[in-house]
Amino acid sequence: VNVNPSLLKTTLRALVATQDHEWTCDEVASYLDRYIEQRIEGTIEATPENKLIDEHLGLCPECREECEAVIRALRNG
Ligand SMILES: [Zn+2]
Repeated sequence: VNVNPSLLKTTLRALVATQDHEWTCDEVASYLDRYIEQRIEGTIEATPENKLIDEHLGLCPECREECEAVIRALRNG
């Protein structure tokens, strides 16, 4: 496979740029499992993902509700 170096650079730049933006609900959902596991264990790792999820949950009642509901369900189960 031939990788075009300038295309690769553009892709990497796009990936890095994404890190600075708020996540969408879909992006949060794809990492929420891990986040919830850590919440239940009581130790949230200081990863960029967790930071973005924290930020998103502070801004998005929908995701916060879903997150809290799953945590409640797991704790009660
Ligand atoms: Zn959301």
